[in-house]
Amino acid sequence: MGASAFYFLGSQLLGTSQSIPRWEDWQVHHKNVAHFCPQCGEVWARIMDSRLAGWFAQTTLCSKHGGGSFISTWRNTFEELPPEVLAYELHLLITRHETANSSPATAA
Ligand SMILES: [Zn+2]
Repeated sequence: MGASAFYFLGSQLLGTSQSIPRWEDWQVHHKNVAHFCPQCGEVWARIMDSRLAGWFAQTTLCSKHGGGSFISTWRNTFEELPPEVLAYELHLLITRHETANSSPATAA
């Protein structure tokens, strides 16, 4: 009880929440998570849990390379995420949607 999760985008603290790990998270993540982009090599995000020691590098594309989401694909609940992270995710989705709709490659 009382554990906190800290969401960093780059070196900036985006938001903090009470840590409510999912079963799936515990299977995969027994450590703090660093999101590592396999295209540019940037560690673009970190999720630190106050109970955990050590780091797990999760291969996730950054926003410049079509990714940038904190939300793992297996996750289907989001209520534990801080509002700042949800706002970031919404902005990411809107930006991606606008980019897709304005790209000549998607024109019929
Ligand atoms: Zn990248």
